[in-house]
Amino acid sequence: MFLECAELEPIGTNAYFVANEESKQAFVVDAPLGAFAWAEALSNSLECEIVSLLLTHGHWDHILDAHLFAEKGIDIMGHEADKMLFEKPEVMASFSIPGIEFNGFSINQWLKENEDISIAGFEMKVSEVPGHCPGSLLFYLKQESLAFVGDAIFCRGIGRCDLPGGNFDTLKNSILKNIYSLPNETKLYSGHGPITTVLAEKQDNPFVQI
Ligand SMILES: [Zn+2]
Ligand SMILES: [Zn+2]
Repeated sequence: MFLECAELEPIGTNAYFVANEESKQAFVVDAPLGAFAWAEALSNSLECEIVSLLLTHGHWDHILDAHLFAEKGIDIMGHEADKMLFEKPEVMASFSIPGIEFNGFSINQWLKENEDISIAGFEMKVSEVPGHCPGSLLFYLKQESLAFVGDAIFCRGIGRCDLPGGNFDTLKNSILKNIYSLPNETKLYSGHGPITTVLAEKQDNPFVQI
């Protein structure tokens, strides 16, 4: 597995590029500004085809480049609770920064709790982790012992609960049920900031403790 992270504009949102050297396929997690050009350059240098864009949730900073993936016919996956944010991202304009251009796009495949999917030759389990955003998703790759968690949890932090559809009790429940229940050694790749592990957050996360 080849995995690379880029912290992108305009507010430091992580995008992940994951390639399978055997299948010569790749997927991308989240699409902040510049994610498409970055991912395309990686796919060219690795001679891999990008088959899917997985969206952890519909907040504007995670989807600014998604329309570019859509134009190339790349499958886009997300949760139906964020349908409005994907199709009309300008509804979040007042929470973004001035001068940002929004482009709506369509989701090709809606994902839901406890769904097993196979992308680019990687097996993953989908979990719903609402509380930061209604359509927040987690992608758990058991064999690789890692999970993409979006803005549900960060290294020693959690996602904001004060945006539309946010709720602390819901987020706390999501973290206890679908993140702290993963094996301790599982690496957590968040939508912002550095990588962490399930054990490190169980021990030191100041917001959610068991
Ligand atoms: Zn968010
Ligand atoms: Zn974010």
